[in-house]
Amino acid sequence: MARHLPYGDMDKILSLSKRRGFVFQSSEIYGGLGSTWDYGPLGVELKRHVKEAWWRSVVLERDDMVGQDAAILMNPQVWVASGHVENFSDPMAECSSCHRRFRTDDLDSKLCPECGGELADPRQFNLMFKTFMGPVEDTASQVYLRPETAQGIFVNFTNVVNSTRKKLPFGIAQIGKAFRNEITPGNFTFRTREFEQMEIEYFVKPGTNGEWLHSWVQDRLAWYTEYGIRPDNLRLRRHASDELAHYANDCYDIEYRFPWGWAELEGIADRTDYDLRQHAEASGQDLQYFDEETKEHYFPYVIEPSGGVDRAVLAFWLDAYDEEPDGDTVRAVLRLHRKLSPVTVAALPLSRNAKLVPTAREVYAQLRRHFTTQYDDAQSIGRRYRRQDEIGTPFCVTIDFDTLDDKQVTVRDRDTMHQSRIPIADLIPVLQDKLEHGW
Ligand code: ATP
Repeated sequence: MARHLPYGDMDKILSLSKRRGFVFQSSEIYGGLGSTWDYGPLGVELKRHVKEAWWRSVVLERDDMVGQDAAILMNPQVWVASGHVENFSDPMAECSSCHRRFRTDDLDSKLCPECGGELADPRQFNLMFKTFMGPVEDTASQVYLRPETAQGIFVNFTNVVNSTRKKLPFGIAQIGKAFRNEITPGNFTFRTREFEQMEIEYFVKPGTNGEWLHSWVQDRLAWYTEYGIRPDNLRLRRHASDELAHYANDCYDIEYRFPWGWAELEGIADRTDYDLRQHAEASGQDLQYFDEETKEHYFPYVIEPSGGVDRAVLAFWLDAYDEEPDGDTVRAVLRLHRKLSPVTVAALPLSRNAKLVPTAREVYAQLRRHFTTQYDDAQSIGRRYRRQDEIGTPFCVTIDFDTLDDKQVTVRDRDTMHQSRIPIADLIPVLQDKLEHGW
């Protein structure tokens, strides 16, 4: 596919974002709140489609996976046992001149990146948000906003085994909000203090963890390319031993070539049996797995593919942005994978002519039962096609005066701009087929 721009043009994405309603600054009328963002009408559909594509791939299409949805607030002992109270911190230093604070593992020098002043010695800053539960604000009522969704899965391990009778190897998937009081958030939705994760804890027999780590790394990488990210813009990076999180003995990052450089989209870690062991010890509960074949009790090892929903959305979006000459102007096209596009089908009557409207509304009513559909009758048909191209709508269905006689509509493909006449009676199965297999 021809590309007329370097991919990943952040300015274009930001202007499109606000103008068309993908992402807005949070509480904008009050001047916003540092690095927090709201997904608008189109952004929420894009994000929902990314989550659906992930859920389909890792839960619905696999026999060895189930889902769950745990509460954000958990017993605070969870975070003591998991090691987060002690270890979930970044090194932070304050500038002696301007008093700004920085995450020092991101910096190349000991000088303040804002004013050049001297930075104090770094200290560890815990990233967990704290709040209080109930009417009394004392240490006994203090709880944390979860910094990862994973712990909600570990503490439910035996509940899931007992209720589903799953045998190893099997995994539990979850999508949900996580909160980290990042010292230096930034780069739009890439690093925020409130974000969404899509995480899997995949439980395996000890000794098979190495091969399962490898298999999940390949599966997850393939998912990003299946949904449209160019392989050249993805790479794998294995963590050096001094970089591993406190619970991991091996880890690969899937990185995307963002406009500011390579950065993590998803981490796939071998978490060993660390978490289940810690929770068994701290809670006094037996969290071992009983292997019916070998008659042994043991703690499974865990492979954890952990991705950020917001980072995936941003990467799919940046990678899809394209522009091409169109007469005297430029056509902006979001070449999103058809299943990720915020709007799947646009229903476009040729004009607002009263004779066309009833048929157009009827076609729209049929379409919206099956697809995310938008009805647009404002301005010329050419401009409406451009508007749909810009938000990545893969299929436009045009209802014209011939439709009234021949009961056919024109279906236009976003990428080739090819148009074909399709009988209204066949429209749903034809579009379902194109959505599944492409044009
Ligand atoms: P980073 O090194 O970028 O801080 P991390 O290694 O701490 O990330 P993990 O703990 O592995 O991140 O979290 C898993 C995933 O959650 C990340 O790959 C990322 O997609 C997402 N994520 C983590 N922190 C944030 C954040 N502050 N904003 C948005 N997404 C995040």
